[in-house]
Amino acid sequence: MKRIAVLTSGGDGPGLNACIRAATRMAIQLGAEVLGVRRGYTGLINGDVVELDRRAVGGVMGYGGTFLGTARCPEFYTEKGRREALRTLNRLDVDGLIVIGGNGSLTGALELHRMGFPVVGVPATIDNDVNGTDIAIGVDTALNTILDAIDRIKDTASSHNRAFLIETMGRDCGYLALVSAIAGGAELALIPEVETPLEEVARVIGDAYVRGKAHCIIVVAEGWKPGTRALIDYLNSCREELGFEIRLTVLGHIQRGGRPSAFDRLLATRLGAAAAQALFRGERGVMVGWRHDRAVTVPLEEAVAYRKEINRELWELAAVMEL
Ligand code: ADP
Repeated sequence: MKRIAVLTSGGDGPGLNACIRAATRMAIQLGAEVLGVRRGYTGLINGDVVELDRRAVGGVMGYGGTFLGTARCPEFYTEKGRREALRTLNRLDVDGLIVIGGNGSLTGALELHRMGFPVVGVPATIDNDVNGTDIAIGVDTALNTILDAIDRIKDTASSHNRAFLIETMGRDCGYLALVSAIAGGAELALIPEVETPLEEVARVIGDAYVRGKAHCIIVVAEGWKPGTRALIDYLNSCREELGFEIRLTVLGHIQRGGRPSAFDRLLATRLGAAAAQALFRGERGVMVGWRHDRAVTVPLEEAVAYRKEINRELWELAAVMEL
């Protein structure tokens, strides 16, 4: 393998730079040249690439975001777009590609593999919904960011005797909301995977008030139905029974940024390096995942077959802790 390319695609998160750096340095160590593709699959179609040597990836470890840029690329959903991407890869004499991203990006990688191109994927998404890996790059830092916000909000909530709804990211997956609710000592988590009636939320808030708690914290995943807006309207309609005043904080894109945690830097370094090694070993159409404290390879087909489900044990644990 003489020349490989690496790209970051889809939603960003902390640890992507560390992963690009590790994949680059390991590939160089194994004797290849490395091209960085800018803006994900868009750059692959347009041939927007930059040469990466050991020094080009120096000093990036501690920064969030991705210095290569990322994008959502509608053309790549089409056969025509993917053929253009293959044409670019051939024109640039690239023998293998490392794709760092979430479920969508890894599905794109699988499509390229099916067209015969050597691809290895690395799971990076703050949602932690990629199958075949215990955890994805970015999750740990995002959780820590949410916990920091919960701690701060608890301070002000206690001072004013308020109940706070804290909305986290997670359109289809409640992992961030559930785990941050447990680790942040919240009263309740509302996640897309579990139906919780509005009356039950009001009951939890009312109970917390009656038991003399200084605040009530409810972590809501953005994908929970019927959604925070509807919940606020409902809670305002039964305000008298709650005791607490209600406030909402939407954390939004704050969760995607920031300096990667020690865990994410190490995970990204190990997975990025393992991805380059897998390409050189001749593994094709696989994702490098993290299982039982080591890097493993999983067929991309399996990784994207369905979204990782929420761990029921965690849900049950939350129910006990939130009492
Ligand atoms: P993420 O990788 O964070 O899940 P997206 O779902 O937005 O983010 O996917 C990122 C990009 O991956 C898309 O914009 C598209 O270019 C590519 N992609 C996603 N799904 C597919 C698919 N089924 N076939 C081909 N390419 C895809």
